[in-house]
Amino acid sequence: MNDSVESPYRVPFDGSFELDRYSTRPPPDAPDRKGLKAGLTEAVDELADLQRILYAHNHHAVLLVFQAMDAAGKDGTIRHVLSGVNPTGCQVFSFKVPSAEELDHDFLWRTARSLPERGRIGVFNRSYYEEVLVVRVHPEYLRAQRLRRAPDLLAEGDRLWEERFDSIRDHEKHLARNGTVILKFFLNVSREEQRLRFLSRLDEPEKNWKFSVADVEERGHWDSYMHAYQEALRETSRPWAPWYAIPADDKPFMRLSVARIVVERLRRLDLRYPAVAPDDRARFDQMQRLLEAEG
Ligand code: ATP
Ligand code: MG
Repeated sequence: MNDSVESPYRVPFDGSFELDRYSTRPPPDAPDRKGLKAGLTEAVDELADLQRILYAHNHHAVLLVFQAMDAAGKDGTIRHVLSGVNPTGCQVFSFKVPSAEELDHDFLWRTARSLPERGRIGVFNRSYYEEVLVVRVHPEYLRAQRLRRAPDLLAEGDRLWEERFDSIRDHEKHLARNGTVILKFFLNVSREEQRLRFLSRLDEPEKNWKFSVADVEERGHWDSYMHAYQEALRETSRPWAPWYAIPADDKPFMRLSVARIVVERLRRLDLRYPAVAPDDRARFDQMQRLLEAEG
C-alpha cells in the first residue's frame, strides 16, 4: 500500500517528524507567480481528466483531508485544486463544532457518514483530526463527550490521545484496505503570516465577514496547537495515509503543491476506462448498425 508520493513535504512514517524543520515559505527555487499559475492550471486540468477515469473505473474512492490553523487558506486551496472537477464527482464536507447528536456518538461517527463513495473524490475541510487538535488544546471540550473517564481527563500521562491515534490509524488502514486512497494536508502557515491575514480581514471591507474574534483568541494557544499538530502528524502519517506539511505562507505555491501531490497519487492508481466484454461488443455493433440504419 506504499504508493505515497515522494515530496519534501511528506511527513515521515517512522515517528521522527519535527514540525519546526518544515518551512512555511516556498523554497528559493520555486517558480515565479506566472509559473505557479500555469502549473496549477495544468494540474487542475489533469485532475479533471483523472477524476473522470476514477469514476468510470469505479474501484477507488479518494479522501483528501485538510487541517490547518485559521486563515491558512483551506477553503481557497480546496476551491482552486478542485475547480476543474465535475461537481458530481466530488463531495466536500466541513466539520465545525459538533452538534448534540454528533456528541452522542463516538468521535469517528460524523465523518464516517460523509466518506466518499467509490469513484468519487471526498474532501474533508477539518475532520476527525480536530479530536486530537482543538480538543487536545482545550481538554475541557471532552466533558461534553461524556467519556467513561471524563472526570480525570486532564490527569498527567492519560492515554486518551494515544488511544485516539490508535483508533485513527486503524480507521484509516481499514479504509485504505477497502479501496479508499487517503491524502492528508496540513497547511503550514506561520504565526506572523496569520497575523497579517487577520489584519487584512479587518482592513479590507469585503474581507470583514471573515474576521472572527474567536480566531484571534485561539491564536493565543499557538504553541499548544503546534505541539498537537506535531504529535498528530507524527503518529498518523503512514504509507497508506500520508500527511504532507505544505508551506502555506504563499498561497499560489501552496495550491500548486497540493494539486501536484493529488495528481501524482491518482496517476499511480493506473486508472483505466473499463473494457467492453466481448459479448457486449457484439451487441454494441448490432446496436450501432441499427441506429445508423435509422438515420
Ligand atoms: P474554518 O474555521 O474551518 O475556516 P468557519 O470559520 O466557517 O470555518 P467555524 O464556525 O470557525 O467555521 O468552525 C470551525 C471551528 O470548529 C474550529 O474552531 C474548529 O476547531 C471547531 N471544531 C471542529 N471540529 C471540532 C470538534 N470535534 N470539537 C470541537 N471543536 C471543533
Ligand atoms: Mg473559523
